Amino acid sequence: MSINETLTNELVELDKKHFIHPTSSIKEQQENGPAIIFKEGKGVYLTDIEGKKYIEGMASLWNVNVGYGRTELAEAAKEQLETLAFASSFATFSNEPAIRLATKVADMAPGDLNAVFFTSGGSESNDTSYKLVRHYWKIKGQPNKTKIISRERAYHGVAVGSTSATGIKDFHHMTTSLATGFVHTESFSPEALRKTIEAEGADTIAAFIAEPVQGAGGVNIPPDGYFQEIRKICDEYNILLIADEVITGFGRTGKMFACEHWGIVPDVMLLAKGISSGYIPLGAVVVRDHVHQDFINLSEGTLLHGFTYSGHPTACAVGLKNIEILERENLVQNSKEMGALLHEKLRAFQSETNIVGEVRFLGLIGALEIVKNQQTNERFSEKLAPQIITEARKRGLILRTVTFGDSDTIVFAPPLVINEEEVNELVSIL
Ligand code: PLP
Repeated sequence: MSINETLTNELVELDKKHFIHPTSSIKEQQENGPAIIFKEGKGVYLTDIEGKKYIEGMASLWNVNVGYGRTELAEAAKEQLETLAFASSFATFSNEPAIRLATKVADMAPGDLNAVFFTSGGSESNDTSYKLVRHYWKIKGQPNKTKIISRERAYHGVAVGSTSATGIKDFHHMTTSLATGFVHTESFSPEALRKTIEAEGADTIAAFIAEPVQGAGGVNIPPDGYFQEIRKICDEYNILLIADEVITGFGRTGKMFACEHWGIVPDVMLLAKGISSGYIPLGAVVVRDHVHQDFINLSEGTLLHGFTYSGHPTACAVGLKNIEILERENLVQNSKEMGALLHEKLRAFQSETNIVGEVRFLGLIGALEIVKNQQTNERFSEKLAPQIITEARKRGLILRTVTFGDSDTIVFAPPLVINEEEVNELVSIL
């Protein structure tokens, strides 16, 4: 047995015994062990402990936007860890990386989204925003405005609040107790939103939350005009608009923030993933001036909400360097161009095969539908996308599927550094 095989066997056994994987089948893990044990990454490629190389077609979890192996980010972390690894941001304490990153995010964010609360990830950003918008209405003398309307097929995370906002029902099945005050509405229908608001009563609703492009729900891109209409409806009924840009922020869709495609400014914007390209856990909640000003004018006592790691100096130092790379290397433009190329090449599968239905992309986030009948969009009774991605993986390409409901979908979100040659390699493996 080679050294590699001995190491693999040892790690597989330890994994089964001690490591409960997030979002996993615990039974399958016990039967088969981990499918891949990753060891290193460079650019768009990952290598496992046996030396096999893969293209990461999903930037891991839609997050490694600047690609793997960036020594600059390692150096930024090292320098900050050695200078001041951690310091509290609670109450009146602060630190320079957090102040600089808040300022940078405020500069980049659309419109007057200018004040930033830091978290360690997307679920924390979501739950923070629900508490902040409820607090907002409370101090404005409307304590009954508490409900959050979210959308069917939405994904907002796995904390109790964000699970409740999530509209993919499969995520609700694990537990019987979800948070109260969450209402779901049809995904791309302004009229359905209007009806939901009327049915619930606008004076009971704090906010409407939406992902600009739904990610985990199957990469669903809104029709033109949808978000402009949504913005109007929220204003008309005095409801705050929360844009969950956890996946779409920092260049994923070919704009720095996806809201820019439609020229709308949400009242609250949620960030994570691309803010640090996954090099370190980090997230943020950004609020507009009018919300911040009301907090300043009306909030009394202590805002009793803060994570130990809100404003973590090392996480913020890495976030700052990550954004510097994103800007310096024009990765938002690359996302737009390589996204268009990948889209075009995958669309060619519609005529080259008889099982590819709709292919949709916005920048470097996209989906390809597997269908039994290209005319009627009828699905196979046994889903094919999982089999396809298993075969792709054997050939060195990592992708992901969406299979809940009637979906039989392959989704794509490669690192924003992908180049033409790597797009071709991805497509030829597929
Ligand atoms: N919001 C959106 C749109 C997401 O896609 C995700 C994660 O995929 C989250 C929130 C939750 O983020 P996290 O997994 O960092 O808690």
